Amino acid sequence: MNNEVRLSNFFIEKTTNLGIEIESLAKYDVYQLCLTLKYYYPTISWRDFELLARHIDNNIDLAYFRSKLLQQRQLLPVLSPVIQNKFKIIDDYILRIPEADLPMVALLMHGDEIISLRHNTQGMLGHAEVNCLVEGQAKLGQKYLTNCELFCNFEPCLMCCGVILQSRIKMLHYADREYHTGAVASQLQVLDNHKINPHTWYAGPYFLGEYVNDLQRFFRECRNKSHAV
Ligand SMILES: [Zn+2]
Repeated sequence: MNNEVRLSNFFIEKTTNLGIEIESLAKYDVYQLCLTLKYYYPTISWRDFELLARHIDNNIDLAYFRSKLLQQRQLLPVLSPVIQNKFKIIDDYILRIPEADLPMVALLMHGDEIISLRHNTQGMLGHAEVNCLVEGQAKLGQKYLTNCELFCNFEPCLMCCGVILQSRIKMLHYADREYHTGAVASQLQVLDNHKINPHTWYAGPYFLGEYVNDLQRFFRECRNKSHAV
């Protein structure tokens, strides 16, 4: 079997499983596509990725390709049903948050098991991600949460990125951007620094503006209430 045929099977099977349409493959970044495949299918060899890269771009510099792959830890945000289900858990939880609290939520998963589900609370350390990771650490009795994945409806801030790095979680998924304080993509790109982040992969945003709209509505309602008093 030649490489072309093998790659063709490789594309169809793995990418389809991830919810990526074969017809739209060209729009994806080759590095991101390879990293995403490597994360979900760790047994795929780096050699296969080099073949894949050459398949997409015949003139690619393979040495540069390899070094860039090893440095990046950001995965393509592919909204598979499994990921979608986690954000559904967050959406359902938002409805149960006391009205005065910010609808910012973090969900910690260990495989299929929910370890912690928390929202923002009072105090400057009371961010959802911190609440969630601290509770997860206590529940599991482990200093490091290396087999856990964290799902947030918003891009974490700098403080939360620090706690995420300390927790050594396997993966962060965030639903939407947080343009003012986000430290994953918006204001800083903390998790891209492979020297301080050797453990955590991340993917996001899966949605563009849907959660931001919810948050803006929350603040608008708060302002209206305070004017009405
Ligand atoms: Zn935060």
